[in-house]
Amino acid sequence: MDRRRAARNRISQLEIKLLRKKAQLEQEVAGYLDDLRQASTDHFSESGDSALDALGDQEIADIVEMRALELKQVAEALERIKDKGFGTCEGCGRNISLTRLAVLPATPYCTHCQDEVERQARGEEHYAENWECVTEPEPE
Ligand SMILES: [Zn+2]
Repeated sequence: MDRRRAARNRISQLEIKLLRKKAQLEQEVAGYLDDLRQASTDHFSESGDSALDALGDQEIADIVEMRALELKQVAEALERIKDKGFGTCEGCGRNISLTRLAVLPATPYCTHCQDEVERQARGEEHYAENWECVTEPEPE
């Protein structure tokens, strides 16, 4: 009972953390988008105030894309908290450890599935599947 209550407390703390992160990301993305808009409408201005002046439009667009992705993960994690599915790995359905969630509250995967996803993103083989291919065929 106490363990469950403790876990629930940890999750509400993570929810607060996620809500803050969401607000921060939204603000950041809005700021970048403003800057992009300004850069495209205002090519001749030499304001030089913005820290983003050193970045090209493409670089800003890349950052916005990255932040938007992060924002999507955070929003999805908040949804999962509402649906009580929070903390369950979307890959294998097992529980994601609270230690991992404390570091990466928005992650939808456990450590194992995250590795798998990253390996696939890098275009490497899915070893678990390949092992089945290399086993000897059953003798007839
Ligand atoms: Zn998993």
